[in-house]
Amino acid sequence: MALKLLLFGRQGAGKGTQSALLAKQYGAPHISTGDMLREAVAEGTEFGSQAQAYLDSGSLLPDEIMMGIITERFAHADVRANGFLLDGFPRTVGQAEALLAITDVDLAVNIEVPREVVLERLSSRRVCKNCNAIYSTAEPPTSPWTCDVCGGEVVQRADDTPEAIGRRLEAYERDTVPAIDLFETRGLLVTIDGLGRPEDVTDRIVAAIDARVSA
Ligand code: ADP
Repeated sequence: MALKLLLFGRQGAGKGTQSALLAKQYGAPHISTGDMLREAVAEGTEFGSQAQAYLDSGSLLPDEIMMGIITERFAHADVRANGFLLDGFPRTVGQAEALLAITDVDLAVNIEVPREVVLERLSSRRVCKNCNAIYSTAEPPTSPWTCDVCGGEVVQRADDTPEAIGRRLEAYERDTVPAIDLFETRGLLVTIDGLGRPEDVTDRIVAAIDARVSA
């Protein structure tokens, strides 16, 4: 089955963690625009060096650039065959409208976690530079700080600083909440409680997907 799913939620709500778990369950590719942009930065391309200023400051890239990235990614065989788990896109009403012009969507999941909780999660978050696996100071890899999955270096993200976190949360309220409302208006949104163990959150999302997709 090709699942076409969008994941919304504040920074630190668990979109990346849930996408990895859902990708295993449904076989749809996890497409994280943040990961793709960080890869471009790491590769040192000209585009990467332009993107870096946005990422470091926690500001959104222009919609046209993001749409170009998504259109290109959607042309790959895995998306055509298995759908997508979109994490971090769309983030504005413009992106949401442009997305709906090129594809239909089965469901948009909004992972709800209060601001106080995400602030705490983000300050302790650590990620693998190589494969993007997510850890925290409370749950480090078995051998600190080497990734259990790929052996890469596990670090704090450059934009997990108090200033950039503040700017990203502001952009979320200002730009992304209206995009979420658009999916609600279309009857495509389900809101899930994002507190508790990651596996429990996954179970809630799976129940919501199965109720919708098999209905
Ligand atoms: P977070 O959700 O924690 O901010 P992401 O990894 O999803 O982290 O995104 C990191 C950064 O990448 C954002 O702050 C922004 O600069 C850029 N970015 C990612 N997705 C988009 C998007 N859809 N539109 C514009 N900018 C984006």
